[in-house]
Amino acid sequence: MSESKMRGKLIEGVTGSWEVVIGLEVHAQVLSNAKLFSGASAAYGGAPNSHVSLVDAGMPGMLPVINEYCVEQAVRTGLGLNAQINKVSVFDRKNYFYPDLPQGYQISQFKQPIVGEGVVVVDLPGGESVEVGIERLHLEQDAGKSLHDQDPNATFVDLNRSGVALMEIVSRPDMRSSEEAAAYLKKLRAIVRYLGTCDGNMDEGSMRADVNVSVRRPGAALGTRCEIKNVNSMRFVAQAIEYEARRQIDVLEGGGSIHQETRLFDNKAGVTRPMRSKEEAHDYRYFPDPDLLPLEFDDAFIARIKATLPELPDAKKARFVSEYGLSPYDAGVLVAEREIAAYFEAAAKGRDAKAVANWVTGDLFAALNRDGKPIGESPVSADALGEMVGLIGDGTISGRIAKDVFVIMYETGERPAKIVEERGLRQVTDTGAISAAVDEVIASNPAKVEELAKKPKLIGWFVGEVMKKTQGKANPQAVNEALKAKLGHLLGE
Ligand code: ADP
Ligand code: MG
Repeated sequence: MSESKMRGKLIEGVTGSWEVVIGLEVHAQVLSNAKLFSGASAAYGGAPNSHVSLVDAGMPGMLPVINEYCVEQAVRTGLGLNAQINKVSVFDRKNYFYPDLPQGYQISQFKQPIVGEGVVVVDLPGGESVEVGIERLHLEQDAGKSLHDQDPNATFVDLNRSGVALMEIVSRPDMRSSEEAAAYLKKLRAIVRYLGTCDGNMDEGSMRADVNVSVRRPGAALGTRCEIKNVNSMRFVAQAIEYEARRQIDVLEGGGSIHQETRLFDNKAGVTRPMRSKEEAHDYRYFPDPDLLPLEFDDAFIARIKATLPELPDAKKARFVSEYGLSPYDAGVLVAEREIAAYFEAAAKGRDAKAVANWVTGDLFAALNRDGKPIGESPVSADALGEMVGLIGDGTISGRIAKDVFVIMYETGERPAKIVEERGLRQVTDTGAISAAVDEVIASNPAKVEELAKKPKLIGWFVGEVMKKTQGKANPQAVNEALKAKLGHLLGE
């Protein structure tokens, strides 16, 4: 734990500054066709109660059967989190009553989780990175869903989600600001998406976080935490932390104390409210589920999964920096999504990679964001973008004209070379033509020429005029040279 290390921003109270401490418990739904202990579909949506087996409905005498694929997914995730894979782990019953939990208990893992300690490198917006410790990852079943808004007098229960496999990923209290917590969640999401173990879709509840928050004087021992349950977007996680830290500081500065409790975030009001206190906390009476054997792995099983891991964001980022000479910041942006990284690499093949990175993170992202399109639906293929960067590199078009070519490519899906040829956008490097345009501009603007002697900056205006005459196609460097040759004496050169 980076306990004593001071970082992040402090929050100013009336009695001095405070440090906020955050630990997250993230529920990530395992990407799998079937549920954790039954063959029913784990797909999102579907007519209510259409994805329910007898096991999921908690019928008497039902027997859970472990889904090996879900187990592999959890191990894969553990490896992606640089974590210890426990060769023996145990499923426990966590007993509590819930209207949408028909078994009367949740099958989870308590003392012996499938994955132990790990670490996640979190990239902060400012460019630095911090490490957040992972305490454990365990497998458990999700509950169903109570529908309170279908009938004025009744609550309906939809068991489609009941029994779906979740990975609960518990972090150490290693985060020190809402920005760090949001960045951690973003990184965790990127890792599971790279691994293909969770789709990371927070809108559909595939990823949600319980947010533990406490405050303390800088460097002091950990304060008492409150846990904010089930926060389902990065923005809400950040907002909930900001609000909760301020609330706790106000209580402490007012002479009160913090009681460990569970709270809910009301995203409309932007506040957290108490849900239950520690005193009311359940005694879950955990015990090993007698229906399920402990999970036991040998080295070969773990090695086989390890061999299938893709290159993960950190490794890819480091490679983009060393192989393509990108800045860590640009590399970080490009590796955030596997598809973006693949697009970049395809476009950069044999081209000026830094220029490609600029086009991807600049004009392409701007256009895709504007249209709400993912990179997979880009009208400009990676190959076409690479070709365009090639045309700039070999002098066929100027960077200025490339901006227009890109817009046409994006609108029409046509290849850049075709656009350049058909629309006559080739850069004019022919010195004769440029020289003639310069002469014309000089001849028709004698007053400006006179002014130039006193205002050397006016040379920029001449450049602009020559560019206009050549429809922007003149090579800017050649224009500058021609102007200097003819007007340099007025500039004292
Ligand atoms: P519980 O099931 O009671 O919530 P867990 O051990 O599952 O307990 O989770 C505890 C979570 O709270 C972890 O993410 C941990 O990092 C975090 N945490 C523990 N102590 C503090 C603290 N003082 N301030 C903030 N977060 C904390
Ligand atoms: Mg908890």
